[in-house]
Amino acid sequence: MRYRQVHLDFHTSPAIKNVGGAFEKTEFQRALAEGHVDSITVFSKCHHGYSYHPTRENEMHPGLAFDLLGAQLETCRQIGVRAPVYISAGLDEKYAVKHPEHLVRSSPDQTIRFDQPGYHLICFNTPYLDLLLRQIREVVTVYRPVELFLDICDIRSCRCPYCVASMKEKGYDPDDQNDVYRHGREVYFNYTQRVRETVDAVAPETAVFHNAGRIPFGDREFASYDTHLELESLPTGGWGYDHFPMTASYSRCLNKEYLGMTGKFHTTWGEFGGFKHPNALRYETSLSLALGAGCSIGDQLHPSGKPDMSTYRLIGAAYAEVEAKEPFCRGAKAVSDIAVLADDYPTGANRILLEKKYLFDVVDRYCDFDGYKLVIISDGIRYDGELGKKLRDHLARGGRILATGSAGFDGDGRFLGTDVIRLTAEDENKPNYMRPVTGDGFTNGITDYHMSTQSYVFEADGSFSTAAFCVGSYFNRTAEHFCSHRHTPADPDKTRSGAVISGKIGYICWRIFEDYASLGSLHLKELVDAMVRKLLPQPAVKAEGLPDRGIVTLMRQNGRLVNHLLFAHTTVRGRNVEVIEDVVPVFGVDVRVKTERAPAAVTLQPQGTPLDFSYDGGYVSYTVPRLFIHQMVVIDL
Ligand SMILES: [Zn+2]
Repeated sequence: MRYRQVHLDFHTSPAIKNVGGAFEKTEFQRALAEGHVDSITVFSKCHHGYSYHPTRENEMHPGLAFDLLGAQLETCRQIGVRAPVYISAGLDEKYAVKHPEHLVRSSPDQTIRFDQPGYHLICFNTPYLDLLLRQIREVVTVYRPVELFLDICDIRSCRCPYCVASMKEKGYDPDDQNDVYRHGREVYFNYTQRVRETVDAVAPETAVFHNAGRIPFGDREFASYDTHLELESLPTGGWGYDHFPMTASYSRCLNKEYLGMTGKFHTTWGEFGGFKHPNALRYETSLSLALGAGCSIGDQLHPSGKPDMSTYRLIGAAYAEVEAKEPFCRGAKAVSDIAVLADDYPTGANRILLEKKYLFDVVDRYCDFDGYKLVIISDGIRYDGELGKKLRDHLARGGRILATGSAGFDGDGRFLGTDVIRLTAEDENKPNYMRPVTGDGFTNGITDYHMSTQSYVFEADGSFSTAAFCVGSYFNRTAEHFCSHRHTPADPDKTRSGAVISGKIGYICWRIFEDYASLGSLHLKELVDAMVRKLLPQPAVKAEGLPDRGIVTLMRQNGRLVNHLLFAHTTVRGRNVEVIEDVVPVFGVDVRVKTERAPAAVTLQPQGTPLDFSYDGGYVSYTVPRLFIHQMVVIDL
């Protein structure tokens, strides 16, 4: 997989003339060299539905007079830049206008409107699929060898006339949301299979990527149709800066190569004339490397075909660094102490563990828990006997578990099907308070802290000690009675156990991660951290002096460990755009990394500067003198 990719959009209205008129090979090559780009998408068909090459199965763009795709492919081949061919699969506006009966519909009687500018999604369960397959066959035949990037492909809950008919044929209920989704999955898998068959018939070596922009959590079959995963996550395009670490931490459990896709835009796709500060792209691409991913940066080519040199200087600021760092990143595998077990992307747990510098993977229930020291079962995970057995096996191997809310309890309120902890009731009092037993690790000491989410009443056996109390309020705020502007205060007479811990198991009675995702209160993070520190006394990495926004990862690559340190703060600009512009360096970051033996050398990379270190108690210790955005420390064992 190439590490320095550009996803070059080229969705060009048929109303624009002289398309590709300013395309010039040497200039295009100069832009790619300036950007340190090693892979770039080139367009066969865009969302507007036109082809950028002569075609018998589609219409060439009315403003185009030559084979732009062929010229771009040749240009890239000449300088060894890979060029996957982009085909818009799910959007083809030219077709959508002619065949509104082939569009995805949320209900059979939904009126499709064309009175607003924008694209319309086409259903793969209609005759459109055959046309799309012919277009794909034409491209792989004419331009072989190529790689394909098929866009806008996902499972759709569709109730178009074709889908309603095939659901009825299969005995599915078109009014049942689950049946509609199940049918949508089948339509999607049929589409991926038919694409594969089409490609195999003419050019079986062709790699095909279907871009949905997301990996549905826990749907292993969905990910199985792709050769690699592209994790679309434009931090300023609505995804935020926490999203990519979370999806990357899950994707690495799917055993495929993956890349992080961001954009050069100030906000998101389709934005002409929007630019990030280079520090933002430097941070975002470094974050991809630190999380075991390759990089992809989104850009959009002007209809003239002329690359924007400001964009390629901006991309080059990041990719020149990636190029130098790549040798320390290729083939590296993440070292993770903790598995966060979830049924969907666990936003709150992801934030707490990142901010507290723990090494973790996000796992689904099909993952193996071997090798993790601690499994966190977050909030509302669905419990079943099979999961209970896996977790009991994990404990028997010496692993630890931290559970929150109702996670891990069976229908009878028994924890992992045992009597160590029993849930007796959902707490009717909400919100209520949490009072830690010791002030250790709590910035504001021992007091009653507000807890906004559901809590549970429980009994734990004698092996547990209380880490925090649950203190009820005098009453819930209702029309009958209320107190002050917001919360009814704590009633000291309503104190019971709220968080407990034994040698192997920690339990927090609130849906604390949900609370953190919603409110982000400091004490929530501090309670989780206090529990994790007891359950995981010897983490693989300890970093001091790195602020909450700092990120630490540890990767194993052949006979060495690569410690990544990152720091950049974000600022909200405009109404809600979280940007990175100026970055403050961090001086004197003290790091301890657990290793099996004393290292031979510790080196700052890619600078190649040797670093003083000591080795004691199974940990190598060093101080990174200055961290600016991203620093790798290579530990040769
Ligand atoms: Zn449909």
